[in-house]
Amino acid sequence: MSALHPTHGKYSDCSGCSLCLLVCPVWREHRDLCLTPHGHAKALQQGIITEEMATNTLSCSLCMACLPVCPENLDIVEMILNLRRQLKVPDGQRERLLSMNSTPTTLPLTSCSTLLLPDLALQAAPRILSRTLDLLQIRQAADDGADIALALESATTIPELRLQQFLAPLRSLKKIIVAEGLLLRQLRRWLPATKIIGLGEALSSQENVRRNLRANDLYVIEPRAYHADYSRLVKYYDRLRTIHHCAFNLDLQRIAIPATVRNLQQRLGLAEPDDAAQTRWVLQGRQIDRIVVENLEDRAAFAAVCDIPVLHLAELAT
Ligand code: SF4
Ligand code: SF4
Repeated sequence: MSALHPTHGKYSDCSGCSLCLLVCPVWREHRDLCLTPHGHAKALQQGIITEEMATNTLSCSLCMACLPVCPENLDIVEMILNLRRQLKVPDGQRERLLSMNSTPTTLPLTSCSTLLLPDLALQAAPRILSRTLDLLQIRQAADDGADIALALESATTIPELRLQQFLAPLRSLKKIIVAEGLLLRQLRRWLPATKIIGLGEALSSQENVRRNLRANDLYVIEPRAYHADYSRLVKYYDRLRTIHHCAFNLDLQRIAIPATVRNLQQRLGLAEPDDAAQTRWVLQGRQIDRIVVENLEDRAAFAAVCDIPVLHLAELAT
């Protein structure tokens, strides 16, 4: 198993080893090879036209769990997004996504060195958002980039003017804390000199948060941010586990298994999520007293299927 960052993105390099199936929540849910990286690669190697394959990529939740497992170091997520770009989407859907920008200028611009980019779930939970900002002693970015995150999700081209408007106030920052893992991954490419970390890492680094972790907790890592920085974070969470002895949603040599499995329509809020089977699978066989999540979507998904208390990291602080 490779701990290297994915280096290239050609389906012709896929050896057909099937290792990606072992960690893929879409494979676990559908048992349909056509919906997996292995299936995409084999079909394209056999000359299936890309538009047909692009439709199959809509079920991918972009959890990135297949990235560290691929022995060919294929950037499977980038390949899936490339295929999605070739999709014929319904008239106006991509334009509607780009008009979904939530609040580009409702907050005053500040001269901070660190800012938080919350995701839509965190924006919808003002109490936890406010607690998060207090704990980290930082401000929220005036432009949350919600439309940029949605455009990344659907592989929609972002107008250059809008992109530069979003990036301009971020360029002077020393550090950005990002709640949405796909946006975090792309921001690292856009702003390579800036320190960019996920919200889970930022909160779990706080002493008044981590000292309240217990041995009988299940700590659920947000998989996108984790896999986007796998080589470093695998060591970070190993240390957390050694110190606090809690269980993690890590499987198969420390791949973070997602608690939700959402296709593109569900991710974009255009269809109801159906996470129960995946969430129950993550809980299966565990003896735990409490669930601690980095991501608010996971909090709702666990609360819907069990009576075990579920807390967001920000709620752990004393
Ligand atoms: S990103 Fe996740 S859902 Fe998509 S192919 Fe990889 S493991 Fe499966
Ligand atoms: S793990 Fe990589 S090489 Fe193996 S089948 Fe999946 S995409 Fe192909």
